Amino acid sequence: MTRELIGIGVASGAHAGIAIGRAHLLAPSELEIRQYPIERKDVLHEVARLNNAFSLVRAELEQLRAEVAPGAPSEVAAFLDLHRMILDDPLLSDAPRELVRTRLINAEWALTIQLEEVCKQFESIEDAYFRERSQDVRQVVERVLRRLAGGKPAAAAVRRRADGERLIVVAHDLAPADMLHLKQRTDIVLSGFVTELGGPTSHTAILARSLGLPAVVGAAHARERVAEGDLLIVDAIAGRVLIDPDAATLADYRARLQAEAQHRSVLRKLRGRSARTTDGVLIELFANIEEPEDAREALEAGADGIGLFRTEFLFMNRDCLPDEEEQYEAYAQVARAMKGKPVVIRTLDIGADKVLNEAARASLGMPNGKPTPESNPALGLRAIRYCLAYPELFLTQLRAILRASAVGTVRILVPMLAHVHEIEQALAFVARAKEQLKERKQKFDARIPVGGMIEVPAAALSLPAFVKRLQFLSLGTNDLIQYTLAIDRADTAVAHLYDQLHPAVLKLVALTIRAANRARLPVSVCGEMAGDLTLTELLIGMGLRQFSMHPSQILAVKARVLATSRRAAAALAARVLRAHDPLEVRAALERAARRAA
Ligand code: PEP
Ligand code: MG
Repeated sequence: MTRELIGIGVASGAHAGIAIGRAHLLAPSELEIRQYPIERKDVLHEVARLNNAFSLVRAELEQLRAEVAPGAPSEVAAFLDLHRMILDDPLLSDAPRELVRTRLINAEWALTIQLEEVCKQFESIEDAYFRERSQDVRQVVERVLRRLAGGKPAAAAVRRRADGERLIVVAHDLAPADMLHLKQRTDIVLSGFVTELGGPTSHTAILARSLGLPAVVGAAHARERVAEGDLLIVDAIAGRVLIDPDAATLADYRARLQAEAQHRSVLRKLRGRSARTTDGVLIELFANIEEPEDAREALEAGADGIGLFRTEFLFMNRDCLPDEEEQYEAYAQVARAMKGKPVVIRTLDIGADKVLNEAARASLGMPNGKPTPESNPALGLRAIRYCLAYPELFLTQLRAILRASAVGTVRILVPMLAHVHEIEQALAFVARAKEQLKERKQKFDARIPVGGMIEVPAAALSLPAFVKRLQFLSLGTNDLIQYTLAIDRADTAVAHLYDQLHPAVLKLVALTIRAANRARLPVSVCGEMAGDLTLTELLIGMGLRQFSMHPSQILAVKARVLATSRRAAAALAARVLRAHDPLEVRAALERAARRAA
């Protein structure tokens, strides 16, 4: 009989979210750790064992890093770098040596004491993203412990099945390096995985999405419930794993996999086609990117340009901030890659859940500003507020963006505007950056458009002043929902109240689109709503003609556009905007979807 495990599904738009294969249980991560006191004469020997184990893991991570294919998703290299950074952090590499010396204990014992100490610090952080980083520390330490025990990395032990069948790895936890290692091996076919640990923002989950591997994470007791060689179905959309499915279930999932594969091949054929509604309205589909390398994925998906380049990722996870030259290279790389297609570069959106390293903050002369428990960083110094408070940081970035405008079609987008005076100050900074470049005789596009994000209700309710001063608008619906509904988007305790279909949110979106269209100003949606297929028709009906989303969603949205008529969409929008309750909105959207099917 089919048995079932429940967890958190990790699916990406790039795959069906279903994997079928034979279970391979990865060696348990709780290694037996030998702990014993040592004599003073053995201190050097234990320290040498530690050094040797650290060197072996360093070499292993370096080799994997060198093997990362140039076209691999940017997260792959970033996570390997992060693990390397953790490995080299004196808190992990020096402190255990000290413990061996002072407490006269063996290497493994010292390392686990220090691991618990570091993890305690991480786990006391309120921010969920940072809290989950303790998992990265555990993964790195586990690699070192494995080496201390004389073993190889867990992934090296995976053997090819005699029948050549696809593998689904079942593990307590799977480090990004191990996942990569398994994915790169040519002798096995890894089709998905299941882990007992991990939340939706764990690096394991993020990397699985980038590599297109369906996964279920956080599936408690998976290794007790699954036996080696069991047939598994990983349903990453429903967040469940079926163990030894019966024939009917298996046939059903096989059919779904096949249908998905066909659907994706149909979508791929849409790449070169423009997205027009059935009654001929052209819809432009742009890509959101976070690293220059992501431009390749945008082009592959047939994006009409980059609608949102989230530049803050160039500034995070490093002690030394990028200077003008480094930023210029990054922006120019994207501008060149897009070959004349528009590239909207958003100025720094630091703050709230996106923070700079402490050393980077210190380099700007910022106070060591850990928020007090009662402060709310989402309402604090964030995005444009941050840039206006640190003029040199802002000016440096603006000069770099302006210089990139000489090699492509570049636009500047300013996040989180709420006040007219913020727009005016931002424009004054752009003018000053232009003056500085003129003095240096450096080239830039003197008519570079400057746009603003509508992410705060105050902005959506001040549109006449905004459209007068800006050359385009972009609706950051992720934040607009957060600020309209007073729901911290990073707080899982209130996640059930974060509702994109709340009539208040939809009214602000419609209001913004209408005001921009009346003023003949381009307007796009660049929040997650843009890539949500259940909203494509509604947004078109509200008058939206530009959508910006993760590249993996572009072709599916295009297919939806091709099946939509402007007239039906407008009627749907009118119905939805009369609703007073998210339930009514949902019902109207479902009725429309049934009619279209
Ligand atoms: C948004 O808020 O919708 C948006 C696109 O910006 P970010 O998600 O980067 O805050
Ligand atoms: Mg935002």
